[in-house]
Amino acid sequence: MDDYELVIGLEAHAQLRTRSKMYCACPADYQDAAPNTRVCPVCLGLPGSLPVINREAIKSIVKIGLALHCSIAERSKFDRKNYPYPDLMKGYQISQYDLPVCADGRLDVEVDGAARRVGIERVHMEEDVAKLSHLSDPASGEGYSLIDVNRSGVPLVEMVTRPDIRSAEEARQCLMAYQTILRYLGVSTANMDEGSFRCDANVSIRPKGSEAFGTKVEVKNMNSFRSVFRAIEHEAERQAETLRSGGRVVQETRGWLEDKGVTVSLRSKEEANDYRYFPEPDLPPLSIAPAWVAEIAELLPELPEERKRRFIAEHGLPAYDASLLTASPGLADYYEAAVAAARAQGGTERTAKAAANWTITELGRLANEAHIEIHESPVTPERLAELLGLLESGELGTAQAKRAVEAMFQTDKSARDVMTDLGLQQITDSGELAGAAAQAVADNPQAVADYLAGKETAAKFLVGQVMKATRGKANPSVAAELVAERLNAMKAQE
Ligand code: ADP
Ligand code: ZN
Ligand code: MG
Repeated sequence: MDDYELVIGLEAHAQLRTRSKMYCACPADYQDAAPNTRVCPVCLGLPGSLPVINREAIKSIVKIGLALHCSIAERSKFDRKNYPYPDLMKGYQISQYDLPVCADGRLDVEVDGAARRVGIERVHMEEDVAKLSHLSDPASGEGYSLIDVNRSGVPLVEMVTRPDIRSAEEARQCLMAYQTILRYLGVSTANMDEGSFRCDANVSIRPKGSEAFGTKVEVKNMNSFRSVFRAIEHEAERQAETLRSGGRVVQETRGWLEDKGVTVSLRSKEEANDYRYFPEPDLPPLSIAPAWVAEIAELLPELPEERKRRFIAEHGLPAYDASLLTASPGLADYYEAAVAAARAQGGTERTAKAAANWTITELGRLANEAHIEIHESPVTPERLAELLGLLESGELGTAQAKRAVEAMFQTDKSARDVMTDLGLQQITDSGELAGAAAQAVADNPQAVADYLAGKETAAKFLVGQVMKATRGKANPSVAAELVAERLNAMKAQE
């Protein structure tokens, strides 16, 4: 790839979390429903039935457009996209062709510390299709397909970027940033493994320094952010290999095979569908009043980019921590609640940073192992705040706090209860520690001799022995002071 530059444009589909479907009154929530129970003549595509526009879906797509800094069309319309496939009940999909609801936006991401701006070509409204299951009869081995129409007509928003993306990592970051925005807006669950968020990547390469774009290949069937990354990397490498060996990249659609780690041809340009788009005659053109758009803009929540900037300014966080903590609205809310609780409990300036560290590192690890979100853990923001207070007051040392947070995660108890139950209180009382210090010095004549011979690090070893004897509960600076006192007394006696 060294001689070539990657050029990528993404097309992402997100299902909207509206109550009803896009063009009928059937519930849009189909995940737990028995097959073909959320259907009506409209979404079954029965002749004579008439679609109606879902106002809530339009409100959602306007929110998305605003969040992506798009212009919102005052006049929009729906078009029929025709193609014959069994998942399409009507033989066409009601989509949008030349007048999408949103156009000309942008998405800002950070890739390896560098700010990147990716243009958004359009965001348009369409509908999902039925779900096919391809099976085979165990007795005869004959193949057959089942069709579940519940998903048919669920509102789907397609977002198309300009070919501004220059690496697989940048593509992954763009998708994650878009997913985060959808979740902040609350318009979609945007879940890749549930299928409520899907992505196709258009990939081409060109010689470094060249202006002209190369021939693009559309890659489909990626089921995770990781597979988007891998598929793009692999496809770029395949194209480079083709060019290096004197071949030509052909315009086609390829599918990503996760297990094999390769893309394979699905159909060439010649076999591409001609969708014969034409205006949907059963729906009126869509007028979107600027006043309504302004009203929606007023209701937008604080978005990830703003929230990240505020976290940096208000809580003094490094950009990287702020990015991690604002990656989902639930996590950002958790963090802010923990900071607020810590302040209410008398926390100092440092608390906000400590809260970030403990949330990202310890809680992040525990939640990851338990396959839950941090904000779903038994360690509530209030409990984390109490833990931070115990750390700040010196009642808990860092190592004990780590044990405490693990126990809190497992037992659903408060920081103080866990500290008492497990006897984790830090020993700061010099009277209590003096014995351990004396013992360490008495038990380790070699270390003492080394120290007296000028090897200062031997003192550290002795402090370590005190920590060990108290099972890590000694306050390390008090322990160090006591050891130093003893050693200095011995030095004076020499
Ligand atoms: P089509 O006519 O096939 O729909 P478009 O020009 O509308 O093609 O672009 C579809 C998607 O492909 C967009 O996301 C766009 O950014 C991307 N794209 C267009 N040209 C290229 C290219 N040369 N390399 C990579 N992606 C491209
Ligand atoms: Zn219906
Ligand atoms: Mg196009």
